[in-house]
Amino acid sequence: MSDFEYDLFVIGAGSGGVRAARIASSHGARVAIAEEDRIGGTCVIRGCVPKKLLVYASRFSDEFRDAEGFGWTLPEPKFDWASLIAAKDSEISRLETAYRSTLDKYKVSIFPERAMCLSPNEVRLAASGRTISAKTILIATGGHPNVDRKLPGIEHAITSNEVFHLSELPRRIVIAGGGYIATEFASVFHGLGSEVTLIYRGEKILRGFDDDLRDGLIATMRGRGIRIINGQVFTKIEKTPSGLLGTISGGDTLEADQILFAIGRSPNARGLGLEALGVGMDATGAIVVDNASQTAVPSIYAVGDVTNRVNLTPVAIREGQAFADTVFGNKPWQVDYTTIPTAVFTTPEIGTVGFTEHEARAQYGNVDIYKGSFRPMKAILAGRDERMLMKLVVEAATDRVVGVHVLGPDAAEIVQTAAIAVRMGAKKADFDQTMALHPSAAEELVTLREKWLAPGEAAA
Ligand code: FAD
Ligand code: NDP
Repeated sequence: MSDFEYDLFVIGAGSGGVRAARIASSHGARVAIAEEDRIGGTCVIRGCVPKKLLVYASRFSDEFRDAEGFGWTLPEPKFDWASLIAAKDSEISRLETAYRSTLDKYKVSIFPERAMCLSPNEVRLAASGRTISAKTILIATGGHPNVDRKLPGIEHAITSNEVFHLSELPRRIVIAGGGYIATEFASVFHGLGSEVTLIYRGEKILRGFDDDLRDGLIATMRGRGIRIINGQVFTKIEKTPSGLLGTISGGDTLEADQILFAIGRSPNARGLGLEALGVGMDATGAIVVDNASQTAVPSIYAVGDVTNRVNLTPVAIREGQAFADTVFGNKPWQVDYTTIPTAVFTTPEIGTVGFTEHEARAQYGNVDIYKGSFRPMKAILAGRDERMLMKLVVEAATDRVVGVHVLGPDAAEIVQTAAIAVRMGAKKADFDQTMALHPSAAEELVTLREKWLAPGEAAA
């Protein structure tokens, strides 16, 4: 019999923590988990899931508009924010219950309170004051939204934590940031009928994504009426009788009912007693771990956003699974961080896997680019001028497809499947030999034949 009350104590019941707890238990470990908020974590409670529900809601406006081109006559559609938020809340509660049931089924003890590390094998529960011993401790505490704390009037702004609980749909919203959350919510609010302005500090939003996707998305967002201001930040926010007034670095002012800050997230690693134990933190405040998610203190591991490796739900889940299999299942394996597909759920959406053209040129020197830009079939009768973009990045020396980039309807669904081929090392010739599925947009990925030549690049 072990000297410890538990074999594993997990701090944080989000994507990574819940998976690790459940799998460790299935390997026979005695497991406990502490959660200071709601079970499910960021993704389920205030991230991916409620976000995607709002994305679905926002896209009905396109459907209503496009239906006319297909013979439908609809009464003037009306949207009710309160009904959407109530439906979303009920679904989130259902999922939270499902997560709790899973933990119960796997006999994981749940402590609904904040926890911190007292020693390499002891956890302190903040509310009850209890100290619990465990052979292994897993930190899976996620992250929190950043705000510009020095900005005068920042207290009037909201973050992604609050955006899901607004009492009414803002008529005018200004969003600071140019990453995933800023662009996704710009599309959501625009689709629901708000007047949207995006203010981004750099020259082009979605840094790190392929330039063709960025350019295509920016053109479409602007074409739809989203105002994008580049190269500026807020310098002040004031409350006025009619809402909020933001001043930006160029001196202009922007009126809004809500100002949303979406300027990145930071790991929840401070205040957990870790520094005193010798657990390392990097410059971003993330917990430093090795390939097995182990910290400098051998009994303490960390997975998910708190380690700031790749801050996506499937990555946190896989890190939790690898940790539990390795430490408790006698099945050691490590997460492979190459070719992680990702999507930005703007409208139109982005789906991407592998190297951007820019990265591939830096990595391989010689690359072949294939790209197609076309009006999706549905857009023609709908009278919509937007174009879909598909792009393949191929390492010239080996013919291997090292990047697939899609902008347009269902890009996320298309790229998830293409990611299997990229991961397997498929060559452009394999794509070419794959029969097209007609009529679909995705067939373009297997029918792209002409190499795209940069201006001045000669045909071979
Ligand atoms: P979390 O899921 O954040 O879980 C950490 C948990 O720990 C939380 O429940 C927290 O309350 C708890 N906790 C913290 N400190 C303590 C403590 N001391 N004691 C007890 N409990 C504690 N990713 C995608 O892949 N796709 C998407 O579409 C997507 N959309 C997103 C949309 C938004 C608006 C946001 C904010 C994020 C989105 N993400 C998305 C990212 C995704 O949510 C995170 O990568 C994922 O949730 C990380 O999981 P985790 O287990 O590391 O942490
Ligand atoms: P991102 O890292 O995606 O984007 C942050 C944005 O804020 C960037 O445009 C950045 O600019 C800008 N920024 C950073 N600091 C400042 C500052 N001080 N002032 C003004 N602008 C600033 O973060 P998000 O908050 O959008 O999302 C957090 C993470 O959550 C994502 O990185 C992703 O991992 C995850 N997520 C995933 C989603 C998905 O999978 N669909 C959806 C939502 C979130 P610059 O580019 O110049 O640095």
